[in-house]
Amino acid sequence: MNVVLIGFRGTGKTESGRLLAHLLDVPFYDTDALVEQEAGATVHEIFEREGEAGFREREKRAIADLPRGPGVFATGGGAVIDPENVEHLRRGRTMVLLQADEATIEKRIQHGSRPALTRMGLRAEIHALLEARKDAYLAAADYCIDTSARSANEVAIGIKRLLMEGGTKEGARREALLAVAGSGIPRPEVEELAARVDALAGNPVLRIFGVAGYPSLHSRSPSLFQHLFTYFEVNAYYTRFHDPALTRILGIARDLDVRGLSVTIPFKQEILRHLDHIDAHSRAIGACNTVVFCGGESYGYNTDWIGIRDPLGPSRGSRAVILGAGGAAAAAAYALLSLDMEVTLLNRTVERAERLAGRLGCHYGSIRDFGRIKPEVVVNATPVGMEPDTASPLSKSDLAPGMTVFDLVYTPPETPLIRAARGAGCTVIPGREMFVRQAKAQFRQFTGIDAPLGMIREILG
Ligand code: NAP
Repeated sequence: MNVVLIGFRGTGKTESGRLLAHLLDVPFYDTDALVEQEAGATVHEIFEREGEAGFREREKRAIADLPRGPGVFATGGGAVIDPENVEHLRRGRTMVLLQADEATIEKRIQHGSRPALTRMGLRAEIHALLEARKDAYLAAADYCIDTSARSANEVAIGIKRLLMEGGTKEGARREALLAVAGSGIPRPEVEELAARVDALAGNPVLRIFGVAGYPSLHSRSPSLFQHLFTYFEVNAYYTRFHDPALTRILGIARDLDVRGLSVTIPFKQEILRHLDHIDAHSRAIGACNTVVFCGGESYGYNTDWIGIRDPLGPSRGSRAVILGAGGAAAAAAYALLSLDMEVTLLNRTVERAERLAGRLGCHYGSIRDFGRIKPEVVVNATPVGMEPDTASPLSKSDLAPGMTVFDLVYTPPETPLIRAARGAGCTVIPGREMFVRQAKAQFRQFTGIDAPLGMIREILG
């Protein structure tokens, strides 16, 4: 057994970790203690002498050098904020997040000797740091356990049970497999999933992920994420859920104790109704494409807008037009507004553009207004140009040198709009770039690991 305990100070990592190591008969390591040993000084003294940056450097080295054999490893509260630390910690290990409410954390740490990280009062510091770190904690976890009302002994026993028996019962997993088999997924894929699920009985620490969509049979996410999991030695299997009813997919996900879902057409809006927690970006866009499950709760994120924002970083502050007013246009408008652009939504059905523009706070109009606006940035968020369509949403005369044209359509890789824009001397960004960047952000939310863009591009071919 190879287990890492992560989480905020006062959640019981050291005490529960020692007890868990005893129960599992493996050595216990505490990264703070390793840092202190190597430095010949206490954490408090290191903070005083070298500041937080000095401590983080030492912590990073200690994590990179952790012994590879079996063990229980307790980490400092800020360790998993750094994706490189998560990458080292995760290789072949199971990550368990210990959580506790703010009042319990305060009670547990108020007499401790650890240095404060901010100049706020203790309660305010706990609140601010938990807020800042919560997504990183969730991403880095395979399992979550609330320790607020549990003794260290109960926590250790609970983790051991989870590692030995998994998060759900075998009967529920069998039921879920039957539902997957009846959903139209090709037989070899169902058999592969069944083999993985069968293996859970003896080794329940494999975590299952999948894409939830209808259709989802052509999704490239399974092969991409499986490659990434294998490369980073994350003990996970990525499959697909293909069903017209989202509630059925969510039932299967619960019974298989699924850890994360990529959500795609037609469920990105509907999923919001089923989530326990929704991040501010998904709420504003009105759609969610990434879900993680931890400790019986579901958390929704949106990485589509990041896939549009990141390639457009150099165009901050530009005048922009978005063609379309559907789901992709909402993510695009949110992304461009976050880059301080002056955004106009142009749509075939103007009323739809008006509604979306009113909600997000931008301008709107009909496609005919394009010439009048003279945009510096254009994002195509309509399906025009998607195979087998060979049309372009803009004519040659609409395009001018210096314009940046981002076509969200990614089949074919070189769309008629991209070809025309390239010919007109525009800077072009093909739709694949959105997929690559949103997948990078999604993998980070699934695992806490920062996969290089080049690696994702290479895997997608
Ligand atoms: P959607 O919600 O159905 O919206 C489609 C929008 O396109 C609507 O505003 C619609 O106008 C407009 N439209 C449809 N056909 C049109 C036509 N022939 N002429 C002019 N406008 C037309 O779809 P979506 O989810 O936003 O997706 C839009 C496109 O974005 C997809 O086709 C896909 O290629 C792309 N996309 C790419 C990625 C990526 O990772 N690269 C991710 C998501 C989406 P009306 O309101 O008048 O119907």
